[in-house]
Amino acid sequence: MKVFLDNFSKTFFEKNNLAVTDPNSLNPDQNWMKAALAEAENSATDVPVGCVIVRNNVIIASAHNQRELNQDPTAHAEIIAIRQAAAHLNRWRLDDVCLYTTLEPCPMCAEALLQARVPRLVFGAYDIKSGAVGSAFNLYCEGRIYPLPEVKGGVLEHNCQKLLIDFFKNKARSIK
Ligand SMILES: [Zn+2]
Repeated sequence: MKVFLDNFSKTFFEKNNLAVTDPNSLNPDQNWMKAALAEAENSATDVPVGCVIVRNNVIIASAHNQRELNQDPTAHAEIIAIRQAAAHLNRWRLDDVCLYTTLEPCPMCAEALLQARVPRLVFGAYDIKSGAVGSAFNLYCEGRIYPLPEVKGGVLEHNCQKLLIDFFKNKARSIK
């Protein structure tokens, strides 16, 4: 089957050594989560969280956490990716995309998804400390005036979790 990827996606997949395959031929959510994981691996000194935004089977935004890098408390992967997607589409309303993130969004990011009208969220690891879509809080509860996104958690959960655990293990080791 022919794969429709724009230049951005092609470069992204090549850069990260990902197989360029038809997302429909595999489990598409796992496929895109692999791209988010590859993005998370670029986080260097930052907590490894990666995010991709997909529209019509094309990645239109891809970012990792850059809080340390930019010394910006709001530079979470999801916020950066949402900004990239809005710039790419030249509109703030992202009501035709799916956002994939390796970690359950925090309250700031979960709210940003609502503000951007993202209709579908897929995440990897659950975050019992600050996950805002059910683990620590639930921002997507009834009574909100915005349409609530469909949420799917636990996609490639083990891989997403392992990346974080390894990061904190290494960090603890370097402090000793
Ligand atoms: Zn966040």
